[in-house]
Amino acid sequence: MVKVNDNYQKLPGSYLFSTVGKKEREYRAAHPDKKVIKLSIGDVTQPIAPAIIDAMHKSVDEMGVRETFRGYAPDLGYEFLRSAIVKGDYASRGMDIAIDEIFVSDGAKSDSANIQELFALDNVIAVGDPVYPVYVDSNVMAGRTGTYDPATGQWSNVIYMPCLEENGFAPMLPDKVPDIIYLCFPNNPTGATITRDQLQKWVDYANEKKAVIIYDAAYEAYISEADVPHSIYECDGAKKCAIELRSFSKNAGFTGVRLGFTVIPKALTIDGVSLNAMWARRHGTKYNGAPYIVQRAGEAVYSEAGRAQLKEQVAYYMNNAKVIKEGLAQAGYSVSGGVNAPYIWLKTTGGMNSWEFFDYLLNEASVVGTPGSGFGPSGEGYFRLTAFGTYEDTVEAIERMKKLI
Ligand SMILES: *Cc1c(COP(=O)(O)O)cnc(C)c1O
Repeated sequence: MVKVNDNYQKLPGSYLFSTVGKKEREYRAAHPDKKVIKLSIGDVTQPIAPAIIDAMHKSVDEMGVRETFRGYAPDLGYEFLRSAIVKGDYASRGMDIAIDEIFVSDGAKSDSANIQELFALDNVIAVGDPVYPVYVDSNVMAGRTGTYDPATGQWSNVIYMPCLEENGFAPMLPDKVPDIIYLCFPNNPTGATITRDQLQKWVDYANEKKAVIIYDAAYEAYISEADVPHSIYECDGAKKCAIELRSFSKNAGFTGVRLGFTVIPKALTIDGVSLNAMWARRHGTKYNGAPYIVQRAGEAVYSEAGRAQLKEQVAYYMNNAKVIKEGLAQAGYSVSGGVNAPYIWLKTTGGMNSWEFFDYLLNEASVVGTPGSGFGPSGEGYFRLTAFGTYEDTVEAIERMKKLI
């Protein structure tokens, strides 16, 4: 008789965004006169830049002509895109990444969920707390995480690395040694980053302990400070221990277009087995490639016009981040993040927990944010605001929040 994958039954319900949405709808229905401002969205709002739209139009037309029509894309992605990535993201910053170390995909969410397939089921993962939920949930589905304790919100076989005010919201090297370490910098949800020297310590640790780092750099384009690394391969020895995930979603507004890539260096071997070869095999078997039109759009991200337009787009969001961070700090709120990431991590006021603060902010200011506790137990007492709204709404939301303190 057929049986389901029991691991799926172990997943606790993810009520975060559905509860946020439900409370927002109820509030709107009860207060039709109030203008609700959403600083909760982890999604971009600015339209796709013109240089990218031009490239998409051009490639759509190519698809309608026999001579330039394309069918299945090459397994690892078109060479024009992979070479643009190598030049634009790595060679330009002095990193030596080869074209066959780049695997083009439909985004970093699926890659971050699928990458765990390369590892044994008895491997132990370590994650920051709070964390982007995909890393843990995908390992739950695979059966790697043990049992869930609803009281602590933690899995028995997962090493949690608390990200708290005292450590600058960046994880410290864990006491127990993990096999797979998930790091995300600049971080969602806290907006925290670490310096190149700090990241080097993680790389040295992973090489010493024979662990692998899965480095999610989805927010790389938002980095503004010089000592914050754009890639883990800026660190010595990273090619021996690290996989990097990149996305076009946040740097180029591709959340609805879908494009990302994963870097697996050929030097990354475990007991003589190449993870690059394993991922190539996986890609060949399970994935038929990102669309030609979308890969041409991705290529345009690296063009001169594309770069200039995207720089402006990122600057627009980061100006919102500045408005939020500086406005709230001046008013007396305790805030972090927002300098190298489009997220501001706010301490709740008046001893409220994250959900109490959510209700308070919605009822008193008609502003929607995201409760920090939804990202993990160490997020309790915190709140995430995003810089992805419009400038006008952001300014208004912060003016309203200033009056609450
Ligand atoms: C938005 C985001 C991604 C990107 O996901 P895509 O599937 O590429 O849209 C990856 N990691 C984190 C932490 C994110 O917040």
